[in-house]
Amino acid sequence: MSEMPIGMRNDECGMLNESPAASRHPLEKGDEGTEQSKGELIMELSKLSLERLEGVDERLKAVVIECAARCKFPFNVSEGLRTVEQQREYVRQGKSRTMHSKHLTGKAVDLYPLSMDRKLVDWSRFEELADLMFQVASDQGTDIVWGGNWKTFVDKCHFELK
Ligand SMILES: [Zn+2]
Repeated sequence: MSEMPIGMRNDECGMLNESPAASRHPLEKGDEGTEQSKGELIMELSKLSLERLEGVDERLKAVVIECAARCKFPFNVSEGLRTVEQQREYVRQGKSRTMHSKHLTGKAVDLYPLSMDRKLVDWSRFEELADLMFQVASDQGTDIVWGGNWKTFVDKCHFELK
């Protein structure tokens, strides 16, 4: 992992320490997954998560989808492609520190591990999810970067193409 210059690509998941706000963020209405998907071995992505992958680079999208198929717990996609206006608003709100986010080009996604009933974010599983993401990415020959490895601004939900 190469160190980022401070302020260059620090992203928005700094709200990780504010669990109540962050818990609300990824779990919007419709994000709970379908009835059928609950309790099945394959933790398919919710319809809303799939919609949020629209416009995301195909390589990254393929990694996320395969990761969901292999993952033994559910996770959601809280964000993928982002507009310049959204990014400007995040910077204004202090959620992001840069206008150079890879979300603007569809080369980044934010993923949140969920409890088995999909009702809560499982804060203990970011590392496990990252391990699987790296494994799948490596199998597919795609190089990814995890925000959890950043030194200047840890961003555990964030994955981007190298
Ligand atoms: Zn992000």
